[in-house]
Parts: sequence; structure tokens; C-alpha cells
Amino acid sequence: SLQGKTAVITGSNSGIGLGVARELARAGADVVLNSFTDRPEDHQLATDLGAEFGVTARYIQADLSNGDQARALIEQAGRCDILVNNAGIQHVAPIESFPVATWDRIIAIMLTSVFHTTAVALPMMRKAGWGRVVNISSAHGLTASPYKSAYVSAKHGVVGFTKVTALETAKEDITANAICPGYVKTPLVEAQIPDTAKEYNMTEQEVIEQVILARQPSKQFATTEQVGGTAVFLCSDAAAQITGTTISIDGGWTAL
Ligand code: NAD
Repeated sequence: SLQGKTAVITGSNSGIGLGVARELARAGADVVLNSFTDRPEDHQLATDLGAEFGVTARYIQADLSNGDQARALIEQAGRCDILVNNAGIQHVAPIESFPVATWDRIIAIMLTSVFHTTAVALPMMRKAGWGRVVNISSAHGLTASPYKSAYVSAKHGVVGFTKVTALETAKEDITANAICPGYVKTPLVEAQIPDTAKEYNMTEQEVIEQVILARQPSKQFATTEQVGGTAVFLCSDAAAQITGTTISIDGGWTAL
């Protein structure tokens, strides 16, 4: 059980981050949810999650494109036994016309913020004598696709940063690993299916198998629960010697 541990999950008011927060809470961890918004429903999400699993759950607003806010998130949490770096955005454009500001923003949110949160969390983990860093990279942290230069660069960068984190903590009861999901069924992905079906004149099932999951041999989405379950495993005693590596949840994508 993760009772008594506090987990901070960045970008966790939706999708994978929320799924990971739910599975960590189910395993008994207190959780800190985060995103860049500060709406009543963000705080309500934490209240509901806390009530559902009988843990302490809080929501802390921080825009992770800003380094000071990334550091303040961990400081405000006060304790961080489990750090899940998950926040991310995507932009698709060829390199020569990729907007410079968008490149900078993607690298800031998805790579530089991981440096900032980790830098503040590691001393807290050392003080507690235990810690787990789980970085949500991607199949795009191990392979590439055209037109996703910033995303692929940030996700590869996260895999490298994870290895350095593991080496700097190797002799302590702290591990750092990256989860590399293929396509995960989130509201964002699901919403694209009907429109794409119309666009290609295909059934929704054909869109899933031939368009969205073209590179995922299982032809099935991974789920946010599966990503969350993998994070819980990485926090378990069974995973204490797993550090500095990646775990793919991609239905065989990177085996191709
Ligand atoms: P999502 O859009 O549902 O979640 C992204 C989260 O990041 C949201 O909570 C959003 O509010 C937050 N966020 C965005 N910008 C932020 C900022 N500036 N500051 C703080 N929070 C911010 O998408 P998702 O699919 O759940 O993606 C979560 C992570 O998983 C991302 O890093 C993504 O790259 C990665 N991933 C997703 C898939 C997939 O198929 N969905 C596959 C592999 C990896």
C-alpha cells in the first residue's frame, strides 16, 4: 500500500494524469492534482477523488511553462514521495514552418518543467528516505513521426533526463523511470474519431484500426487505468531495482 505517501501528478485534471492519480489514490497515496487552470471544477475533482478513495487530495494550480511555477508546485505540496511528470501538449507542423514560440512552449512544459519539479522533489525524497519518479514519456520518446519535432524531442529528452535522475539517486531508495505509452484512449483522442471517420469516409472502427492505431499492432488503445497501474507497480517493492529505464505500454508499436 502507498498509505502515508504523497504523490504529485502534473497535468492531472484530465486524461492520463487523472488516470494515474486515481490508481495511486486507489493504492492509498495522498494525491496533489495540478493543471494551469484554477476553476472550481479543478478543486472539486480533488475533493471527489479524495472522498472516493479515502485519501487526502488537493489541487494546486501551476502553469508548467513557467519554471518558477513548476518549482512552486512542489514547494506548495510540501512533501513529494512520488513525482509523476505528465503534463504535455502537442503541435503538428513541418520543421521549417514550426512556430518558434510553440517549440519553446512544448520544450518548457514537457522537458524543462521535469527538470524543475525533480530538482525540488529530490531533496524531499532524500529527507523521507524513499522516493519514486515516474515520467510519462511516449512511444515518441523512443521512435519518431514526421511533423512532431518538438514533441518527439521533448519526449526523447525526458528519457535521457530519467536516466540521469536514476544515476544520481542510484544508491538511495529512490528510483526514476519513464512510461512510454502508445495511443491511449483519452477524451481528446476519442473526440477525433467521429470527425476523422467522416473525413476519410470510413467506419469509426476502420478509423481506429487503420488511421489512429496504424502503428499499434494490437489495434487496441491502452487505457489510462493501465498507465496508472504501471505507475503503481513502479512504486511497489517489486520494482525497487527497476531504475533508469523505460516501460512501453504500446501494444507492440516499438517492437516493429
Ligand atoms: P490531456 O490533454 O488529457 O492531458 C494533458 C494534461 O496536461 C492536462 O491536465 C492539461 O491541463 C495539462 N497541461 C497542459 N499544459 C499545461 C501547463 N502549461 N501547465 C500545467 N499543466 C498543463 O492529454 P493526455 O493524453 O492525458 O496526455 C498526458 C501525457 O501523456 C502527455 O505528456 C502526453 O504527451 C502523454 N502521452 C499521451 C498519449 C496518448 O495517446 N494520449 C500517448 C503517449 C504519451
